[in-house]
Amino acid sequence: MNSPSVLAQPALVLNESWSAIHTVTVRHALRLMFTGAAKAVVPHSYEVHGFDSWTALAVEPDEPHIKTVRLKIKVPEVILLTHYAGQPNPAAVFSRRNLFRRDHNQCQYCGVRPGTAELSIDHIFPRSRGGKSSWENCVLACTDCNRTKRDRTPEEAGMRLLKRPDKPKWSPILEIPLGRVKHSWSRFVSDAYWDVRLEP
Ligand SMILES: [Zn+2]
Repeated sequence: MNSPSVLAQPALVLNESWSAIHTVTVRHALRLMFTGAAKAVVPHSYEVHGFDSWTALAVEPDEPHIKTVRLKIKVPEVILLTHYAGQPNPAAVFSRRNLFRRDHNQCQYCGVRPGTAELSIDHIFPRSRGGKSSWENCVLACTDCNRTKRDRTPEEAGMRLLKRPDKPKWSPILEIPLGRVKHSWSRFVSDAYWDVRLEP
């Protein structure tokens, strides 16, 4: 029996030039290896294995693995794409840091830049009334504007946004929710790359 938790864990994906570009589930990583689209990387030796040679590798006694009828397969934690030199996923992750970056640390109602400690995330259509946490419904607001707006829409509060909020156009760096980072990835990505994903 396969352990579903192992298959659902993240594997780090490297492009042809060995830059980390995103993560996929171990299940997906195995599929990419099986079709020849990716090879598995042994993190401490940088050895690269195709599907067949990877499944032939011995599994250490206490090592997490995937069990099939006939085989015990090592869990691929890092894979290398064989024909892809693309850059990080252009869809910007909706995170606190990216939202501050998009709004340039500026209150989107009055335009002040009071410093990050004095800014908070405002839900344009209030969260208490079902407003979503999304690029289109969230902006930075200063303490004063937050207090003025409360649980109201900008129209109800008689406030105006500087501009219509949208998904950022820039391509953000690789971001992976904290707690999902594997030790074996540390050789491929620097700590500065990690970010915290906001809850939906
Ligand atoms: Zn303000």
